[in-house]
Amino acid sequence: MLAGGSWQRELAQGFRKVDELLSYLGLGGHPTVDPQQAAAAFPLRVPRYFADLMRHGDPADPLLRQVLPVAEELVGAPGYVADPVGDLGVGIGGGLLQKYAGRALLITTGACAVHCRYCFRRHYPYGADAAIRNRWQAPLEVLSRRPDIVEVILSGGDPLSLSDDNLRALLNGLEGLPHLRRLRIHSRLPVVLPARMHPELIEMLGRSRLAVSLVVHVNHPREVTPRLGEALAPLRREGIVLLNQSVLLAGVNDEPMVLAELSEGLFDIGVLPYYLHQLDPVAGAAHFQVDDDRARALHENLSARLPGYLVPRLVVDRPETASKVPL
Ligand SMILES: *Cc1c(COP(=O)(O)O)cnc(C)c1O
Ligand code: SF4
Repeated sequence: MLAGGSWQRELAQGFRKVDELLSYLGLGGHPTVDPQQAAAAFPLRVPRYFADLMRHGDPADPLLRQVLPVAEELVGAPGYVADPVGDLGVGIGGGLLQKYAGRALLITTGACAVHCRYCFRRHYPYGADAAIRNRWQAPLEVLSRRPDIVEVILSGGDPLSLSDDNLRALLNGLEGLPHLRRLRIHSRLPVVLPARMHPELIEMLGRSRLAVSLVVHVNHPREVTPRLGEALAPLRREGIVLLNQSVLLAGVNDEPMVLAELSEGLFDIGVLPYYLHQLDPVAGAAHFQVDDDRARALHENLSARLPGYLVPRLVVDRPETASKVPL
């Protein structure tokens, strides 16, 4: 319980005010623009650990850019919409979304430890289907009638922002479905708050009869720290497969050297690059856009530098395709 409490305390102590974050970074009074309004639409949220990875005094820091509300968010851009990947049309009940054969994604919570300005679910109506109610009865009930679904992906929001008790209840329920083979967790928490990966959680996942994988979300090599390596190492020892997905973001990681360093740094801590997502056109994120031609050129450049297993698949999430589509 003690260990469980400490990450929650750390989570609660994160930055939630733009001014406080900026002055912490020595950027107080910096004429960035007026971020207050953008923050009103989608509040700032940054754990201290993550803020400590940012460069002091650098308004263009790539980690800061991912989380700092800016006025550009409020400027409409053609094609940038509230639900860019078609989440709202693929619900199968109980907070489950299914787009692809054999697997379904469960919206476990709307909460995250960090708010990423480019998040494609920044406008998602989480309140509508918080599956967490009634010890996960609704999604378990849906899955029990769907023997074709053999993999469940915990998503959100961030599933690791749930308490261990809530996760345990969900895991127990999922393990009770005989046709289910794999559990995947999509989370950014290990990256922004490594204290979350405490021994009780790892033990719970390691003990599962399901084949477990964890897909973390790292965009920049400076997010790959020794602390992250320490937090993930016990998972590897438990046989949990570790993958990474990144989003291609202008001003953050749209340089071949940065992407190459990211892949190599991830491999050093036992994580394989999985996807590099072309930005989903979500309203408020147009300033992160890298155009398709440039994205392809970056990816080719990356392929020419690295072994194939360190080159993430560059993909687009389109509303009506049978998988994510290579760009
Ligand atoms: C992205 C996504 C997945 C995962 O796709 P994989 O190719 O299996 O990684 C699954 N379900 C939904 C609804 C998704 O959006
Ligand atoms: S952690 Fe993931 S779900 Fe949460 S805001 Fe960032 S991208 Fe969105």
